[in-house]
Amino acid sequence: MAPPIEVLILGAGPHALTLAAELCDRDPAWGQRLVAVDPAGCWMNDWNARFDQLEITHLRSPTVHHPHPDPHAISRRRDLQRNDLTPGGYQRPSRRVFDLTVEELIESSGLNDSVIGGRVQDVRSDGDLWVTHLDDGRTLSAEHLVLATNRRRATIPTGVRQTAAIPDVRDVTAGERVVVIGGGLTAVQLADQVLTRDGFPIMVTRRTLVERHFDVDPGWMGPKYLDGFERIADPTERVLTARSARGGGTVPPGDLERLRREVESGRVELHEGNPVERAETTDTGACVHLADGRMIRADRVVAATGSLPSVDDDPIASQLVTASETDVVCDVPVLDDHLRLPGTTVYVTGGLATVQLGPAAGNLAGARRSAKRIAASLCGGTPMIEDPGTSSEVTATRLG
Ligand SMILES: Cc1cc2nc3c(=O)[nH]c(=O)nc-3n(C[C@H](O)[C@H](O)[C@H](O)COP(=O)(O)OP(=O)(O)OC[C@H]3O[C@@H](n4cnc5c(N)ncnc54)[C@H](O)[C@@H]3O)c2cc1C
Repeated sequence: MAPPIEVLILGAGPHALTLAAELCDRDPAWGQRLVAVDPAGCWMNDWNARFDQLEITHLRSPTVHHPHPDPHAISRRRDLQRNDLTPGGYQRPSRRVFDLTVEELIESSGLNDSVIGGRVQDVRSDGDLWVTHLDDGRTLSAEHLVLATNRRRATIPTGVRQTAAIPDVRDVTAGERVVVIGGGLTAVQLADQVLTRDGFPIMVTRRTLVERHFDVDPGWMGPKYLDGFERIADPTERVLTARSARGGGTVPPGDLERLRREVESGRVELHEGNPVERAETTDTGACVHLADGRMIRADRVVAATGSLPSVDDDPIASQLVTASETDVVCDVPVLDDHLRLPGTTVYVTGGLATVQLGPAAGNLAGARRSAKRIAASLCGGTPMIEDPGTSSEVTATRLG
C-alpha cells in the first residue's frame, strides 16, 4: 500500500476545493499533503454538469462567494466584461468569470494533480489511519478524512419518473407540453429551457411564488442571525431553525418578473399555490392531478422539488457515523466545533454540517466557513475563532 496521505478529501466539488485552497493559502506545501478522490478525477465536475444541464449563465449567490480564499477575487478581476456582474445592489457573477477564477485558483494553488479518479466504497479505521477502498479495487490510507460528498435525498412527488433531483429537459422538442413541478429558481430555469426549445411549460407550485434574492437571507452569512443560532443548544432545534430559514423554493426578483411576463403573454401556464395530489406517467405522456381537482395532461412531467442533506443517503457517511456512534438528528450528524465526527479525525463539510453552520452550510458561503474551521483544526488553530460567521462576543461566550 502507498504511504498514508495526510488529508484525504472525499469528493472534489466546491466544498472540497475551498478547503484545499484555504490550506494551500496558509502553506503551499499543503498541495503535496492532501489528495481529493472523486469519480470524475477532476475538480468541480458535478457543479459544472449541473450548470451545463440547466444552462445557467449567472450564479445565484453574490460575487464574494466562491472557492478562492480572497472573497474579492472575482470583483477585483481586471478582465470583467459587461455581463460578468448582474446590475443592481446585489451583484451576482457570471458563470464565465466564476469558472475563470476557479481555474486560476486550481493552477495557482498547485492543485491541478491533486484529484484521484475513483469512488470511495468503503472506509475502515486501522489504528490511527483510515483505510479507504475505491470502486476500482485501489486502497488509499489517510490520517484525516474530509467528507465532501454532498449526497442528498431528493424529494420527488410520487408518480414522477425521475431519479435525480434535477431533471434534464435539453431534449424537449417544439410543441412539447411539459409540466414543471416546483416553485424555486430551478423550476423557473427549467420552464425557461422548455420555452427556448419552443415547448410549452406548465408550472405547478405548492404555494404562492416567493420572491427572494438568494436562497438564504444574507443575514445568515454573519452575526445578524448566526449569533442567535449559536445560542441554540438543542441540535434538533438548530436543524429545524435552519430548514425554516431556507423555507421552500424562492425566486430572485428579475427571474420572477420575467416569468410573470411569460405567463401574461400566454407562453407559460402557471398553477400557483395548487399542490400536486398525484401524478401518473406512462410511456406516451403524463397526467397531473392538482389539489383543486384540476387535471393536466402533458407529454412529460418533471419535478424541481428540492433535496435535503442526508446521512442515510450517503453510504460512507452512514458507515462512519455508525462506527463513531455519532448522534444524528433529522438525518444530519451532530459534529464537534472542528466539524469532526466527535472523537475522530473525520471532518464533514456541506449540508451535513447544518447543526454547526446553519442554513447556508451546503452553499458556497458554508464552504468558506467550513474550510476556515477545518483548516484551523488541521493547522492547530481554534476553529470557532477563525470561522467568520459569528461575532467575537458570541464566540468568546461559547468558548468559555
Ligand atoms: C443548480 C444549482 C445551482 C447552485 N448555485 C449555487 C450558487 O449560485 N451559490 C451557492 O452558494 N450555492 C449554489 N448551489 C448550492 C451548492 O453550492 C452546490 O450544490 C455545490 O455544488 C455544493 O458543493 P459540494 O462540494 O458540497 O458538492 P458537489 O458539487 O455535489 O460535489 C460533491 C462531489 O463528491 C463526489 N462524491 C460523492 N460520493 C463520493 C464517493 N463515495 N467517493 C468519492 N467522491 C464522491 C461527487 O461525485 C461530487 O463530484 C447550487 C446548487 C445547484 C443544484
